[in-house]
Amino acid sequence: MPPYFIPLIAFAVWALALLSYLPLLKLGLPLADQLVAPQFLVSGLLLVVVWALSGPITASVLSALSILFILYLALAFKQPSFMIQALFHVALFIGAVSTLHEIQRKNNRKDIVREKLVEDLTLVRQEQQKKDELKYALEQKIRRYLGLQKFSEDLKNIQDLGHAAQRIVQEAHTALAKAEECALYLVNEAKQELSLAAGWRRDGASVRLKLGSTFDQWVMKRSQTLMIQDSRNDFRFSTESGADFGALRSTCVTPLVTENRVLGVLRVSAAEPGVFNADDLRFLNIISNLSAVVLRNMQLYEKMQELALKDSLTGLYLNRYFQERLGEEIARSHYANTPFSLVMLDIDHFKRYNDEYGHAAGDLVLKHIASAVSGCVGEGDLAARYGGEEFALILPNRSKQEAVDLAETLRARIEKNKFTLRRVENQVTASLGVAGYPEDGQTKEDLVRHADKNLYEAKNSGRNRVCGSF
Ligand code: GH3
Ligand code: MG
Ligand code: MG
Repeated sequence: MPPYFIPLIAFAVWALALLSYLPLLKLGLPLADQLVAPQFLVSGLLLVVVWALSGPITASVLSALSILFILYLALAFKQPSFMIQALFHVALFIGAVSTLHEIQRKNNRKDIVREKLVEDLTLVRQEQQKKDELKYALEQKIRRYLGLQKFSEDLKNIQDLGHAAQRIVQEAHTALAKAEECALYLVNEAKQELSLAAGWRRDGASVRLKLGSTFDQWVMKRSQTLMIQDSRNDFRFSTESGADFGALRSTCVTPLVTENRVLGVLRVSAAEPGVFNADDLRFLNIISNLSAVVLRNMQLYEKMQELALKDSLTGLYLNRYFQERLGEEIARSHYANTPFSLVMLDIDHFKRYNDEYGHAAGDLVLKHIASAVSGCVGEGDLAARYGGEEFALILPNRSKQEAVDLAETLRARIEKNKFTLRRVENQVTASLGVAGYPEDGQTKEDLVRHADKNLYEAKNSGRNRVCGSF
């Protein structure tokens, strides 16, 4: 049974009781007088029951109606007993209304308490969320820093610069997982420009900017870290600066610095603006600092190795290295069934320069010849200072005829390039002998002997010439 049925039934019974009583009064029957007391009792009891069953709202409404009805009866029939009944209903009405008021007050208090509880709960939830975020950030930091330990261990075990560069890039884009492109550029000291050492892109493509972007160059020149929230809208750079970045709008760049020198720059970029934060930049900088030390050591080691193999006066390879490479070239050409050539060069009448201008001037002539030799050889060729004023060239994949042509170019260049000694313009010439593999010999000794023989031939036939003895 729905709850509103109780007040409805109560109201119906109450109304019937009062209405049935009305005709008796109208007829003026004396019975009516006697009925006042029971009616008073019945309607009073009924209201108390209604109150108990359906609450003070129904009770107050019914008692208000009762008051009106009884007042009407009292005035219409001038019966004083009705007034007592009316007073009873007034009391009942006041009781019901004050109870209602009290309930309302309690409800209000409950509402306030509930609201406070909800407020507290929201605060606790917000606090919890903040703590969760902090915990996640801390965990991420710990993971990153633990990764650094492995990274520096790995770097220690890598021998060459290329692999080290790749490992650095890998570390940067793994730690800064939001990166979509990562690039490591090294500074070319002679040209003072950047060149790509290793790159990575999430889409598998290769990094487009081989010489670095405006931002990379900015970092190289200032030796400062740089964070760009939106490359299309940064007050430090013109709009065109970000243009070469294409779709990449967020960028972090840090310099690799050792001994106050910028060795290179490390950059991560992403398509969305505002992807990186200060923590990311700081971490990238740590990677850069660690990498700079390792890369610097590698560069120094490579330089030392090169110094050990090269002649300090001319910058050409030493005889020891030449002999090693000659042996390797014979083996390689034998295996690949390809030709290669050997050229020996001796300066003509070099003793005269020494005698006339002194040993130091002689050294200058040697440097002069060495630069001509270096300028003539290609990428895969090898130029060495064979002995005092003798030079040797290994020319892989070149036939004897091609070697003779190259030797002739070199000879002509030496003859043409004049130089000044003690304010006097001088000219030097050289004689060259060529030997070809495999036709002139299949061992180091045979090939050198053959080239030497041709050099001797060139000297004997008037110097300043190339001899290949075909
Ligand atoms: P040619 O070869 O035309 O027959 O005459 P040449 O005068 O060049 O004769 P040779 O090749 O025998 O001379 C070698 C000279 O080179 C002897 C030595 O004084 C000089 N020499 C060797 N090494 C050096 C060096 O490192 N510096 C200087 N200044 N002279 C050197
Ligand atoms: Mg000589
Ligand atoms: Mg000589």
